[in-house]
Amino acid sequence: MSCFLNLAECMQQNMSVKKIKTNIRNMIIEIQNIYRQRLNNLSWMSAETKAAALNKLDKMKVIVGYDETGVWPQDLYEFYYTPKNEGGIFINNILSAKKANTDYSFKSKNEPVRNDILVEGPQTVNAFYSPTNNSIMILAGILQSPIYSIDASPEENAGGIGTIIAHEITHAFDNNGAKFDADGNFANWWQESDFQKFNELTEKVINYYNTYEIKGYHINGTLTLSENIADLGAVSCITEYALNKEYDLSKVYTAYGKIWATKKTDASEISAILNDTHSPAKIRVNAVLSAMDKFYEVFDIQPGNGMYKAPEERPSIW
Ligand SMILES: [Zn+2]
Repeated sequence: MSCFLNLAECMQQNMSVKKIKTNIRNMIIEIQNIYRQRLNNLSWMSAETKAAALNKLDKMKVIVGYDETGVWPQDLYEFYYTPKNEGGIFINNILSAKKANTDYSFKSKNEPVRNDILVEGPQTVNAFYSPTNNSIMILAGILQSPIYSIDASPEENAGGIGTIIAHEITHAFDNNGAKFDADGNFANWWQESDFQKFNELTEKVINYYNTYEIKGYHINGTLTLSENIADLGAVSCITEYALNKEYDLSKVYTAYGKIWATKKTDASEISAILNDTHSPAKIRVNAVLSAMDKFYEVFDIQPGNGMYKAPEERPSIW
């Protein structure tokens, strides 16, 4: 790492980067262990499918910060960014970059599939699951407050980055991820009756989200299914993680609510409801917490309260 600080400051920063990476890696291992137990305890899945699911979890690659072994697209093909003083404008540069990328895809279409091409830089505030790599990537950009801080309470980090990590892991088992195996191949690893049961459970998730609305627009439970499965699985998993560690669950759920605090124009919100595969932030909090049995205990939610859902209405897959 090079930086413009003096040597002592630079060394200190390197140490805290190492400490953060170690913290996050340890957290991922702990969350995967909870996931392993939860998969083992599933009542609706046969032993054969469980073994395949556990294998997929065991083989999952974990990348924290950014993938140091990855290759940047700009190192694979030529692309010239035209600066403003040469008459370059933003839209043309974007279109040229997209064209260069598409040209490369055509040119390389007969070559073996590459799984090492980077799609995002470390500064991006996001995290990903790749079904074709069976990998989760927690980028450096997301490792900041309120999602994660080395100085935050364990509850805040569990409700923040903990739920993000568990969300990405759950993508391996959502309606899309379920179609890819432990090596990232498009292959069936399910016993037929288990897959049928899985589809019945996803149907319940679709129907549950269809009942929610924002600004007069209903959530499209089918469009948002994979993300909703990941959100529900994530908070279920983190609930168990927090209980095992004897964390104050009310603080974990509150931290989860805080990371989705969002400000949007009506037009942007409505456009997202119609097109985005993620539910709106408010639904990501309210619908998910209303599906957690523990939420009712922790905040003493009773029938008639705004977020109350009857036990049989609450969806749960993972
Ligand atoms: Zn997601």
